[in-house]
Amino acid sequence: MEVLEHIPFNLDIDALLSKLRIDQRPNDIKRFQNLVDQLTPQANPKALYTVSFIESRSHDTVTIDNVTFTSRALRTKLDKIQRVFPCIVTCGRELDNLNLDPDDFVKNFWLDTLKEQILRHASTHLNNHLKQKFALTRIASMSPGSADKYVWPIEQQIQLFSIFPHAKKQIGVQLTQSCLMIPIKSVSSIRFPSEFDFHTCQLCHKQNCPSRKAPFDQHTWDSLI
Ligand code: SF4
Repeated sequence: MEVLEHIPFNLDIDALLSKLRIDQRPNDIKRFQNLVDQLTPQANPKALYTVSFIESRSHDTVTIDNVTFTSRALRTKLDKIQRVFPCIVTCGRELDNLNLDPDDFVKNFWLDTLKEQILRHASTHLNNHLKQKFALTRIASMSPGSADKYVWPIEQQIQLFSIFPHAKKQIGVQLTQSCLMIPIKSVSSIRFPSEFDFHTCQLCHKQNCPSRKAPFDQHTWDSLI
């Protein structure tokens, strides 16, 4: 089991200002930059992962580290794979301690956006780390609760977190009773080598999702579900 801490991140301020539609508002630009200056020294994005091997498979289950996951899509994606990388990545709890005015909804929304960007950097960093360390060309991932709800139900977070019983101590991430993570800008997944690009968004019918990375793909759906 390995922990990556103080994962580097590089915020594209111009792109963020544009995304938040404040790039033409000098006062907001100044307030946003102040928030970035306040946040940057505090941030400590982290990742926790382990190297695991598939022990058995059935029609719609796959067993890894004595933990059985039920998802036909996951089982099919891991069909020809032996080694996988269960992981948790987080923007870090440190960013929950910035003491922003809770009534300043705008600034709290900006903070959420910044946390999301930092999480993305941390997630990409983990992929690059795995590629380099294990000589992989391409990595795909699946997360419980992403895509349509029955692709890999969010309740399977319990099984995934059972691989990481000390996640709270190691990287400050805990699972709530409703299977959400604290900090909320965290992601848990199983990463695996892949011959082709794959995003769970290809298995998601959600309309107008601002975070969509790939269009819904009927062919992928038919082959995995
Ligand atoms: S489209 Fe949006 S909700 Fe659906 S899997 Fe992709 S990011 Fe998640």
